[in-house]
Amino acid sequence: MDLQNSLTLLLTHWFKNSQRQLSWRTTPRDPYITWICEVMSQQTSLEVVQRQLPVFLKTFPHIKSLSESSESDLRKVWSGLGYYARARNLQKGAQYIESLGSFPTTYDEIIKIPGCGPYTAGMIASLCFHEVIFARDGNVNRVLCRLLGKESPENVAPLFNQFILNLMTNAQISPGEINESLIELGALICKKSSPLCLQCPLKDTCVSYKDNKTHLYPLKKKKPLWKQVSLKANIYYQNQEFGLILRKDSFLKDTLGFHLSETDPGENTDFIKHTITNHKIRCKGYIVNDIKEFSLDKIYWFPKELIPHNLSTSLDLKIWKSLEI
Ligand code: SF4
Repeated sequence: MDLQNSLTLLLTHWFKNSQRQLSWRTTPRDPYITWICEVMSQQTSLEVVQRQLPVFLKTFPHIKSLSESSESDLRKVWSGLGYYARARNLQKGAQYIESLGSFPTTYDEIIKIPGCGPYTAGMIASLCFHEVIFARDGNVNRVLCRLLGKESPENVAPLFNQFILNLMTNAQISPGEINESLIELGALICKKSSPLCLQCPLKDTCVSYKDNKTHLYPLKKKKPLWKQVSLKANIYYQNQEFGLILRKDSFLKDTLGFHLSETDPGENTDFIKHTITNHKIRCKGYIVNDIKEFSLDKIYWFPKELIPHNLSTSLDLKIWKSLEI
């Protein structure tokens, strides 16, 4: 047996015995459920996906129901799952699939679904339609960097692609299973810090393990240059309801939350502190009753109890809690 075949067998044998039992790992795989799961998993932990997926599927059991959803149902079901823009993209995607008449079955067609990136399209195509296609996320990059002894995935993407495509074409194992085994290995064994190499099915061929350099691969990225931002959160309040807006610019583009404007922090010390990507934010919320001074496209009004469910960022939630209303 050649090296690639034995690697694949070791990996998939490990996966069969050690994978987490998740409700969506069925045979055969359902493309609709796989798509929803992949989008949910991009923003939240598997525990949350496990809890929220049945709720989502109860409200939207099929593509048609999602494509016809009302804004309020979609918001309710997406509550706690992060950026609402992703839910809207899912709905746009469902409308697109409805217009096709059925779920597309090849990578080249799946990637045309609005909001569906290469990784998600690769997972759906390989898991549900057995297409030989490599789905590469951060976990898989880390495993491959260590396994092949490469410092960074950036310059060796073609090498990784070829390596995985060889595994997929030489083995009698579904390409989706190989993709999923690598992702699971990255999540459970080849962890970011302190990989559990002694339990790893690939340790005998792993270059960084043999060289005792697992801690060096992949090379850590340089820390981003921090940008300090001081913000004022305008909390609109009218007729016993609070107003949110869909932000259209800045680093919080496409998120539903309070209207934010830059401000001079002055001598104030009671700011909320928060970090998003490379932004160090100081922010304070103010109740605003007179909204005429703001020229805003649309304000979404909600009663107090629904506000936490409709805020899409943790910064907004922090602001809301600080008001102690
Ligand atoms: S031996 Fe260690 S570093 Fe290599 S792939 Fe396995 S867990 Fe990762």
